[in-house]
Amino acid sequence: MSKTQKKVVTSTLIIISFAIIILMGLCSTIFSSKPYVDPVLQPSFNEWKIECVVRDINYKRDLSRLDSILYAPLEIGYWGRCYGDKIIINSNSIDSTEEFLLKLVMYHELGHCAFDYAHYEFGEDIMNSALPQEKIVLYYHFWDILREQYFSRYLPKRERKRLLKKLEKQNCFCILGEDKLQDNEEQQTQHRSNTTKCSY
Ligand SMILES: [Zn+2]
Repeated sequence: MSKTQKKVVTSTLIIISFAIIILMGLCSTIFSSKPYVDPVLQPSFNEWKIECVVRDINYKRDLSRLDSILYAPLEIGYWGRCYGDKIIINSNSIDSTEEFLLKLVMYHELGHCAFDYAHYEFGEDIMNSALPQEKIVLYYHFWDILREQYFSRYLPKRERKRLLKKLEKQNCFCILGEDKLQDNEEQQTQHRSNTTKCSY
């Protein structure tokens, strides 16, 4: 084999190797099973995804930073929490058979983690900072309306970023990804005062 031939073979091999690496990367992105969803939460998660598709919401982009949605023990007083890349629905507070409550809390936490929603305190809303046990029946009854309200506030990621920049310029500070769903009145008052400083 001549020197030139050797060079051609080497370059071809290098190109093929790069192509394989790129293909592997693409495949892992396309077929990635992120986020991992606990089987208990899968029905409500699927429902949320369908509601997104119906409204032409590109939920995959919104979920890109989310690694897992778990049904696991949290301290009592919380229904669930959004940790940015992870959602935990509290198995200490919600029984795996309480389908509606699981769904309500799942929508709430996905509101924070996927849509960057802050809490919303003007009337009954999925994004209320507190979802008291005695009011769950109300949320159940008005679910269709609440769900519409929830999705009507959706903004695509790009628009959210633009808005956030605008708010930062105005020196308006929002606590995003807050996570309290508890009954403690004192903390609620404190919490509400924190999250209603600016609304969007
Ligand atoms: Zn919350």
